Amino acid sequence: MAAGTVCPFSPYASLSRASNGQYSPKRAKLSCPNCLSLPVTDPTALFLLLVSPAIGSFLAVLVDRLPRGENVVSRRSFCRSCGTQLHIGDLVPILSFAWSKGRCRRCDSRIPPWVLYLEIAAIAAAGFAIIASDTAATMLITAVFLWLLLGLAVSDLLWMRLPDLLTALLFASGLIAAMGSDGSGVEMALLGAALGAGSFLVLRIIYRALRGREGLGLGDVKLMAGLGAFTGPFDLPLLVLGGAIFGILWGAIRHRRGDTLGQQSIPFGTALCLAAALLWLSRVTGLLN
Ligand SMILES: [Zn+2]
Repeated sequence: MAAGTVCPFSPYASLSRASNGQYSPKRAKLSCPNCLSLPVTDPTALFLLLVSPAIGSFLAVLVDRLPRGENVVSRRSFCRSCGTQLHIGDLVPILSFAWSKGRCRRCDSRIPPWVLYLEIAAIAAAGFAIIASDTAATMLITAVFLWLLLGLAVSDLLWMRLPDLLTALLFASGLIAAMGSDGSGVEMALLGAALGAGSFLVLRIIYRALRGREGLGLGDVKLMAGLGAFTGPFDLPLLVLGGAIFGILWGAIRHRRGDTLGQQSIPFGTALCLAAALLWLSRVTGLLN
């Protein structure tokens, strides 16, 4: 919400404070400084909020099918237990799950709750993109970035797999973001991608040579190409540090639950996605400069 515009929620309240230096103009754009209402009347924000439940639903299909090598386009949604094709009434994001109490209406088998969580998280991701961004372009690219991270994070958490389609889309989105007016340029994005993927590839090779087994999946290498395209080369150390911290936290939690240290499979892709989301939002909002 630029200085000089009228807040739709408190139109009598002047927004001129946004330009008199009392606070950061970038932060002021997060909401109306007078009534703290979010810029939900922005057409891009409205669009993102409207499509986010459907995006969450589609992400759930991708996460469910891509790691199994199944087609995500030609086959309609179906129940995993009885194979019944789902009808339009079964496919309304969140509402269908709530209406059916999380069970298939034909065979009564339980629908995995992560489907519901993913749909809710996709709406939350759109909300974060709207709150954090000061331009429509940033809002869009932030939402796409967070949605892709969400799909990748859940996929790694559930299946320990990072589908190529999602990592490829992440890489392509990173290049598009870099080409924007606020972007760092394609050269920096490519450099970030090359350094991110290259360093992880070297780590993977060294670990295998030393331990005789795979320690870092090829999916993580591809993921780092996409994340590196978004962060550029200079934020890579912060990204990996954040991912390592989340990975260690995960390992510590699993250890407390009885897993042997050093023998656990840690969804490092999920940890990296979480770190990337926090890093990106920190940069976009100006919290981290
Ligand atoms: Zn069923």
